[in-house]
Amino acid sequence: MTASASGLHYAPRDDAWVFHGGSFVRAGDAGFNLHERGVTFGDGVYEVVRYDAGRAFAVDRHVARMRRSLAAVALEGIDPAELERHSDELMRRNGWRDAKAYWQVTRGPQPRDFVIDARTRPTVTLWLSPREPVVPGTPVAEGAAVLAEDVRWLRCDVKSLLLMPASLARTRASRAGAVEAILVRDKADGSSHVTEGTSTNVIAVIRGRLVTHPADRYVLAGVTRSMLLDHARAVGWGVDERPMTAQELCAADEVLVCSTTQVTAITSVGSEPIGPGAAGPVTRALHAAYLKMVVGGRG
Ligand code: PLP
Repeated sequence: MTASASGLHYAPRDDAWVFHGGSFVRAGDAGFNLHERGVTFGDGVYEVVRYDAGRAFAVDRHVARMRRSLAAVALEGIDPAELERHSDELMRRNGWRDAKAYWQVTRGPQPRDFVIDARTRPTVTLWLSPREPVVPGTPVAEGAAVLAEDVRWLRCDVKSLLLMPASLARTRASRAGAVEAILVRDKADGSSHVTEGTSTNVIAVIRGRLVTHPADRYVLAGVTRSMLLDHARAVGWGVDERPMTAQELCAADEVLVCSTTQVTAITSVGSEPIGPGAAGPVTRALHAAYLKMVVGGRG
């Protein structure tokens, strides 16, 4: 018997009947661990790392962010440097050179209880998704965005598995023909600001300067965001890490969204065209710089 923290006494049993996927099965035959807190509570954190020509891009920044995410949710006993080694080994075993790697750490299995049992040990799952090699000189992708209310929790700096609000917003965007939903948060002080995309950071070009939300608890400190801002500063462009309103965003000269897998020019937000309605010069330059970085293995 396992004593749960709430006083209920029960132990998950693999031979117990459960109902899953339309039939009655033994818990142990369900195909996944029913008691995994990653499944029952979305209790876990993750990273997405890109490999180009066999090399992990900006992997130190991903390892550092994974370390911060793990610490923020008190997920202990995992060394992110070990995830990097396992990820490299997966690339080798699959024989792939260009891929996206998912590194996922969930709290682990325990009898379902809101209180985390101190004895629960994390589950580490890594998998790869192969893709075509990057071709330098590829034009920047373009697409429309919609605005959506940011209803996520207030620890968006943690790359957590609590992805349902983002996924629902992105699904609505996709059904409206848009590539991203740009989230707007009504903050406790009465202000309302653009935070980020559902799985991207948002950078606007306003009067010749790059504007993006500060890397605080309202946004994920994107690795791509940091690489692009470092590049912009290195070439002498002005960068303002400050909140902006949806009105400012819609009136911007250029808007881009970025993540490990993309730098995309946003050509309209809702019914408002951005600039001339096509990728602008700053976005094209940042995209070209990003392709060079990933191919060159910089970071
Ligand atoms: N913001 C959110 C909410 C994300 O989920 C992601 C990536 O998945 C990003 C920003 C971009 O982060 P990165 O550039 O590290 O991929």
